[in-house]
Amino acid sequence: MTASELLIKGAVVLDVEGPLRQADIRAEGGAITEVGPNLAAGSAEVIDADQMVAMPGLINAHTHSGQNLDRGAAPNLPLDLWLIWAVYGNVARDAEDRYTLAMAGALEMLESGCTAVLDHAWMPPWDFEAHAEAVMSAYADAGMRAGLAPMIQDLDIFESMSFAAASGPAPEPMADPVDPALLLGAMADFFDRWQGTHPRLTPMVGPSAPQRCSHELMEGLAGLARGRGALFHTHVLETRTQIAANRERYGRSSVDYLDDLGLLSTAASLAHCVWMDPDEFAAVRRRGATVVHNPVSNLRCGSGLLPVADLLEAGVSVAVGADGAASNDNQNMFEAMKFACLMQTLHGSHQRWPQAPAVWEMGLRGGAAALGQPIGSLRPGSRADVVLLSTNRHVPVNRDGLVTSLVLAEHGQSVHTVIVEGEVVVSAGASTRVDEAEAGRRSRALQQRIHSALPERQALYDKYSGVLTEVHDDAMAQPAPVERLAHITPAFGPREAAAAGAGPDPGPGGP
Ligand SMILES: [Zn+2]
Repeated sequence: MTASELLIKGAVVLDVEGPLRQADIRAEGGAITEVGPNLAAGSAEVIDADQMVAMPGLINAHTHSGQNLDRGAAPNLPLDLWLIWAVYGNVARDAEDRYTLAMAGALEMLESGCTAVLDHAWMPPWDFEAHAEAVMSAYADAGMRAGLAPMIQDLDIFESMSFAAASGPAPEPMADPVDPALLLGAMADFFDRWQGTHPRLTPMVGPSAPQRCSHELMEGLAGLARGRGALFHTHVLETRTQIAANRERYGRSSVDYLDDLGLLSTAASLAHCVWMDPDEFAAVRRRGATVVHNPVSNLRCGSGLLPVADLLEAGVSVAVGADGAASNDNQNMFEAMKFACLMQTLHGSHQRWPQAPAVWEMGLRGGAAALGQPIGSLRPGSRADVVLLSTNRHVPVNRDGLVTSLVLAEHGQSVHTVIVEGEVVVSAGASTRVDEAEAGRRSRALQQRIHSALPERQALYDKYSGVLTEVHDDAMAQPAPVERLAHITPAFGPREAAAAGAGPDPGPGGP
């Protein structure tokens, strides 16, 4: 139950911005009402936070809970090939499995200091309601804040790609055709069930990606988002291969397409955006949409480097996501921030590299924008989502030093207490609400099932990898309108490369 009143006593307060200060934090009705020294306890439940740092709960602005136990399953591959592993060959999972998967992620995130998630979770058209109910119930039971954007599409993966460069015919569709009206009906029911009914759970609109949906479905979803005042989330221009395929499909960029549908606004968050060109980024900035950066997944799939410094300097809202465990392979937001920070040293002058404090602010502010809620801050008026850290590993001397230490050196080991909506949901590092031994047993059994099907997934991959490699390599060989990857000069010249494997050269003094 939500404590009606909570007082966090004597913490070193590390907010989204501003200097460190020693203070008490009062929460009432799920919101922070007061931050200051020596607040009177009154009838509040008191948490002694002496020798602890209080920080806003981290926000994971893009993941797919259905992949939570897929960690370690897929090789590192470009997205178009990786999708075969991650999406198409998996074992059938029922609604109960979806609960197990979402719960595994919720516990992993909460116990590593992340209090809110934007879950872009795939929903099967034939059992939408039960799966959505299961995922929402897991977050409700764990005590986590969640926006659930059911990831839907009515086109087959192969219909969303261009096979013009393939030497043979395009592969036959893998999925059965889906009636967009069925999906739109399920989405309307989903909003009837969840909109405004739970203080921590928010239904959202979330097509998988514009190119994976018919115009009829996208238009219907735009109408739903408008009618319900809903938040919108989708994947956009994650890879270079999507540039040409999207232009072929729409005759214009997919960003213009979304804008024409009225879907580009402050209510929109767009995952990846790595291959947007200057006009597309300008449209995102003009409409106030949020870009969700997923650095680990971008590296795992070789998708490219998002120009974060340019976006921040231009005032674009940028959030950070873990992305699904099939391309990460964890749900650790400290690690995601570390990658977001370090990856930028590959781009531009060191004077413009976003340092750890900039990434910290970016993730909290951008995450709050993506979830459309007053979170990511410890100011009065914010929802009371607070993480208390032990200071054994991070001595709080000054703000920038502490933030840098957290972003670069923390993995969640210091997380002691986690409060969501004014309620303690993790204490001494363990859930106060969930039987974790039982949740662990369910997770292990499901992961066993998932990993025992890896040979079948390998076989499916082998069937399609040839044609997918052909179209991917062709797209990569074409001149791109923008550059998002570093050019690496080979380690050896052609003569040395030809002599590779001949064994060591004994040199002038040798036999
Ligand atoms: Zn994703």
